[in-house]
Amino acid sequence: MRSSVTAYVGLGANLGDARATVLRAMQEIAGIDGVVLNRRSALYASTPVDANGPDYVNAVVQVLTHLKASKLLEALQTIETQAGRTRPYRNAPRTLDLDILLYANAHITRSKLTVPHPRMWERAFVLVPLAEIAPDCVHADQLHAVRGQSIEKLQ
Ligand code: ATP
Ligand code: MG
Ligand code: MG
Repeated sequence: MRSSVTAYVGLGANLGDARATVLRAMQEIAGIDGVVLNRRSALYASTPVDANGPDYVNAVVQVLTHLKASKLLEALQTIETQAGRTRPYRNAPRTLDLDILLYANAHITRSKLTVPHPRMWERAFVLVPLAEIAPDCVHADQLHAVRGQSIEKLQ
């Protein structure tokens, strides 16, 4: 069996019952064959960045997995589809978005998968929950750079 690696997945939703969808998605990620959910951030509310629509519910989870990054992405996309995800246009409001942020210390540049996620460093809704569960993955100056973006921890 492949040895297990640590990966981080960003979750986001702003259509339907976004909080319930994100919580359910965490359970579904934990249920992927070959994945163990190790840590989960709190839920956060964020205002859309470069997009319209309702506020987002966001979170980040840390997983341990034997899956290759491409297989992990496939499993995440199945969960997105089951949550009713459609892609009418770029940055459209969505029932569920699951992005691979980091996969061990791998640098992947394939047509369907770029890791680290190329836009994660611009996004408070990624960096704040990531820093909560993996402070070593985010530098203070990276958090500082996104301080103007609205994000709030949910109870
Ligand atoms: P953004 O990538 O800016 O967060 P998005 O999440 O809304 O935008 P999607 O429509 O969910 O974009 O995904 C579009 C494509 O991005 C997917 O089909 C997938 O192949 C590709 N992709 C590339 N890198 C990643 C990654 N690290 N995690 C998830 N999808 C990725
Ligand atoms: Mg995304
Ligand atoms: Mg996505």
